[in-house]
Amino acid sequence: MPHEYRQPPPLRDVIERHDLMPKKSLGQNFLFDLNLTAKIARQAGDLQGQTVIEVGPGPGGLTRALLAQGANVIAIERDERCLAALQEISDHYPGRLNIVPGDALEADFKALAGNNRVKIVANLPYNVGTQLLIGWLLSEPWPPFYDSLTLMFQREVAERIVAKPSADAYGRLGVLAGWRTEAKITFDVPPQAFTPPPKVTSSVIHLVPRATPLPCDATTLGRVTQAAFGQRRKMLRQSIKPLGGEALLAKVGIDPTRRAETLSIEEFVALANAV
Ligand code: SAM
Repeated sequence: MPHEYRQPPPLRDVIERHDLMPKKSLGQNFLFDLNLTAKIARQAGDLQGQTVIEVGPGPGGLTRALLAQGANVIAIERDERCLAALQEISDHYPGRLNIVPGDALEADFKALAGNNRVKIVANLPYNVGTQLLIGWLLSEPWPPFYDSLTLMFQREVAERIVAKPSADAYGRLGVLAGWRTEAKITFDVPPQAFTPPPKVTSSVIHLVPRATPLPCDATTLGRVTQAAFGQRRKMLRQSIKPLGGEALLAKVGIDPTRRAETLSIEEFVALANAV
């Protein structure tokens, strides 16, 4: 039988054999349900022959689903205990799983992608998830090296990513994600689906880069949103004082008594362009 059709050993055996007690410090909440991992992988679209970068494969539940759906996977994992388990999966899919040991926060994703278009798919460790997302959203040049991001977050963070102006969850993440991508929550995952179960519900989100977002310098927009939402209860003339305060707001015709959460993405872009 060709390698592709042989099943790697069941995940729970893998965990036991490699003694992979989940570590809280690494945000380890593992998925064992193959129907669920397959469903997450499907959100990324047709994966046949596609290159996928996965952050934090852990024992490889989602990795297997990505491989089974035809992807070639580059998987970055920080926990060395997981590497032998991932190697077993790699042996079942020769030449299709590239295991990259190390910290995703220090990874050069563009270099890992090389000349391939990639999709990024991950059940992210909660402690580094938003930092990674912001890095991907601020990628240069744009359109970026990836075709989509399919990511698991805590529901509350997912809501911030897709939030629209005036919503309680609207903030820096919503502006950056809405400016450069079309972002949507595709489905929720209850705590019991994970081992160990986290305290809160999680959500899978899917982000597709916009081909032509409003022209703006990404780093400046990042600074403006950080200042504005850093003191979100304050009026803008106060919160963005270090960037130009009232004079800057006057330049783009925004009432200085407004608060950050009332500004549309277009208004934030106008402000950043005036800085
Ligand atoms: N993908 C697996 C699954 O769905 O069952 C594991 C997901 S678990 C939520 C997060 C994974 O990210 C863990 O395997 C953890 O070791 C890994 N991780 C944590 N911090 C990391 C980092 N900075 N760089 C790379 N991997 C990291």
